[in-house]
Amino acid sequence: MIGGGLAGLSSAVALAEAGWRVCLLEKRPHLGGRATSYTLPDGSEVDNCQHVTLGCCTNLADFYCRVGAGDKIRFYDRLNFADAQGRRSTIEASPLPPPLHMAPSFLLFSALTLADKRGIANAMLAIARSGGAPSGVEGISMLDWLRRMKQTPSAIERFWRVVLVSALDEELDRTDARYGIEVFWKAFLANKSGYRVGIPSVPLAELYDGCRDAVADQGGEVRLRSSVRGINVQGGRFLAAVLDDGSRVSADACVLAVPHDLALALLPADMSAHGAALESLRKIKTSPITGVHLWFDRPVMTEPFLTLLDHKTQWIFNKSLLSAKAETNGQLPRPTTGTSLSAATDNENGQYLQLVISASYDLVPRSRQEIIDLCMRDLADVLPAAREARLLKATVIKEVNATFSPEPGVDRWRPGPETAIPNLFLAGDWTRTGWPATMEGAVRSGYLAAESLLTGFGQPRRFLRPDLPFEGFCKLWADRRLKNLS
Ligand SMILES: Cc1cc2nc3c(=O)[nH]c(=O)nc-3n(C[C@H](O)[C@H](O)[C@H](O)COP(=O)(O)OP(=O)(O)OC[C@H]3O[C@@H](n4cnc5c(N)ncnc54)[C@H](O)[C@@H]3O)c2cc1C
Repeated sequence: MIGGGLAGLSSAVALAEAGWRVCLLEKRPHLGGRATSYTLPDGSEVDNCQHVTLGCCTNLADFYCRVGAGDKIRFYDRLNFADAQGRRSTIEASPLPPPLHMAPSFLLFSALTLADKRGIANAMLAIARSGGAPSGVEGISMLDWLRRMKQTPSAIERFWRVVLVSALDEELDRTDARYGIEVFWKAFLANKSGYRVGIPSVPLAELYDGCRDAVADQGGEVRLRSSVRGINVQGGRFLAAVLDDGSRVSADACVLAVPHDLALALLPADMSAHGAALESLRKIKTSPITGVHLWFDRPVMTEPFLTLLDHKTQWIFNKSLLSAKAETNGQLPRPTTGTSLSAATDNENGQYLQLVISASYDLVPRSRQEIIDLCMRDLADVLPAAREARLLKATVIKEVNATFSPEPGVDRWRPGPETAIPNLFLAGDWTRTGWPATMEGAVRSGYLAAESLLTGFGQPRRFLRPDLPFEGFCKLWADRRLKNLS
């Protein structure tokens, strides 16, 4: 296994479970790839960026359970939004059957006008009634589809863009409509719990401790600081991985689970050359995410997290509250509003917030101080207590190639797990999983690579978990669509 991100880890754990002795080679000193955490020089442990999962991410949930990390993810049922004046609106599920379960809180959502809501409801109904697959969306952008669905400019800006830029890390005019529609179908329409936001209560790297044990239990090993510089192929079969220090690790089979641009550099030249099957990997672009970590001298926020409308900052995470230990009666800290300011701090004196800006193209060239100033202005609008608070420390982490860009038609460039070399397989969020660049997509790719490898060796086994079941009217409409197709 080359690469210890979620794709490599999930594949390694699946193969170990199937009885294989896995050697995982990771170039960094820690596991988790883009979804990891590390210690700053002053001793603070930070995630490279806040990562969230959703209720509809069934394979990621399965992976966390396999490695004993399931109880380290807390799920929140209530999504809080703040507009330019700091006024709050909430989205949460009601007892109504899907797709109506969100309707009551949506109707009360104060940041949208009646005309906005009417348009959004029509578009949602079009998605739901088509079983998540409206016709005529192939190759068009999400923005084109929204205009076709006659969405008002404010509905686009204050609803669709708010959800999708964070979920897909791309602007609406550069997002394939199919991806945008799937986010709403899977998270907000098809099942009541698809939208629930899951947030790790520990630093990201701690989620992967169980992976080493799973691999070691089968006699395998995880080698950190082991950078692979090439792949040795002989007689059309994978033979060995060659490390930077010149040593070799030979194996019966190899899963290459590194980002797509690095995979191109490691694959034999004839597989990625002009006209070869994997040449199109060069066409996959990437988009940036900026994370801003702020430590205040006092509590400034009560909610666990907040989504911002009409601001550059898209999400604020109250890290002090999110990582607070569970209460002694076994209950989680209340995952809603109403927490007192003092309860929302990690200690008597201060509070640690993490802000996220996806598709942050315009922030890439800006200085650390400019970005901090901009975020502080946003905070002053939505968290009045931040105006008086003293900023003790700040860190800005720009991930310039955070995720692959889900631009219209990108799927035709995403390869499956199998390659022209029968014992060499590909994994990574960029492979053809049907999902955008997410932790769920990475785990799916890892499971799919493990399934392909085992099938190739005559030991077929399934790891991929199904989506959440469709519920309510959405189930009826999805069943009708399947019947019409068959
Ligand atoms: C800032 C940011 C925020 C994000 N937020 C979210 C979120 O909230 N929710 C969500 O679902 N997803 C989020 N994502 C996306 C998610 O992190 C990725 O989709 C996922 O982690 C990708 O996993 P991967 O295993 O495919 O790739 P990676 O995590 O990139 O793993 C590849 C691994 O290969 C290693 N490697 C590379 N070259 C070599 C080599 N030559 N030899 C050995 N090892 C090598 C790398 O060090 C790395 O560990 C975010 C991503 C970023 C960057």
